[in-house]
Amino acid sequence: MQHSIAPALNQFITQMPKVELHLHLEGSIRPATLLAIARRNHIELPARDEAGVIQLFQYRNFSDFLTVFTVLARALICGEDFEQIAYELGHHLADQHLLYAEVMISPSQYYNRGLDLDEIVQGAAAGFAQAQAERGVHINLVFDYGRQFGLEDAWHLLDIAIHNMPHSVVGWSIGGDEANFPPELYTQVFDAAQRAGLQTAAHAGEVVGPASIWSAVDLLKAKRIGHGIRSIDDPALIQHLIKQNVVLDVCPSSNLYTGVTNPLTKHPFRQLLNAGVGMTLNTDDPVFFHTTLTDEYRLAAHTFGCDAEELANLVLNAAHAAFLPLNEKRALVNHIERRIEMLRCALDV
Ligand SMILES: [Zn+2]
Repeated sequence: MQHSIAPALNQFITQMPKVELHLHLEGSIRPATLLAIARRNHIELPARDEAGVIQLFQYRNFSDFLTVFTVLARALICGEDFEQIAYELGHHLADQHLLYAEVMISPSQYYNRGLDLDEIVQGAAAGFAQAQAERGVHINLVFDYGRQFGLEDAWHLLDIAIHNMPHSVVGWSIGGDEANFPPELYTQVFDAAQRAGLQTAAHAGEVVGPASIWSAVDLLKAKRIGHGIRSIDDPALIQHLIKQNVVLDVCPSSNLYTGVTNPLTKHPFRQLLNAGVGMTLNTDDPVFFHTTLTDEYRLAAHTFGCDAEELANLVLNAAHAAFLPLNEKRALVNHIERRIEMLRCALDV
């Protein structure tokens, strides 16, 4: 059911302070920037202009999406490329009043091509730091390991993530081919990540059912689940998520474009919210899925009927679930609470 958005609520959505936790760097590159970088690096892309890049963002299914993701990531080679895309993303997020974000990079895309991941991570961190200096938005990095690349590489890449903790790397996650590579393969890798002080998340329950979420929570001890929407099929799992304080990082437009839930009216967002599961709202790959975080909040209002209170809670859930030290997290939560209260008073929403 579609709900129209009252002008004051619309204004609230535009101006509210925001936090995003499920966002892939490679899916956030402006088509014009991607083309410029590919040209600079002499990499042939299957598109000549912006319209051609946008044309690639038509997927028949999730594996189509993974293929496009890999093809486009090939344009990126050196620290300078990552500094540029990170800087632009920082500004894009600041334009939407984001105060904090965690951005995933897919390390195998670069490691498999023999690129220098330290240079890549430190380039991205420099771009984010520059955006923070200019606009105030704070951005950290999470390694999102493509589970189809196997255990051996995972151990190497975890080492790289750990020694880049001084360069904004705060988390470890798995993504990629959920259907053929269950979470339990990576139990020991997650144990080691946690022992080293990285916080952990896992893509689960996006294209595969509740079993993958059970494993991500119980075996990997992931504190956040990317998507996790299939938990709606298992009431015991819903109760388990609530009890374990595990949060679902939900990305409705992504689910629409990868064909996971089409049409969006079939999305379990409202049922999950009503069931009391902790949820955050995210874009996943905003350029690939033709969206922004502000658009996702609008969508939550008009497609899932969220009011100002529910929207504010989604932001606060994200602040609480951030991979930040406790003192920084408290400061972020307090800041958001104050600004949201002032905005709600001013707009009467
Ligand atoms: Zn994702």
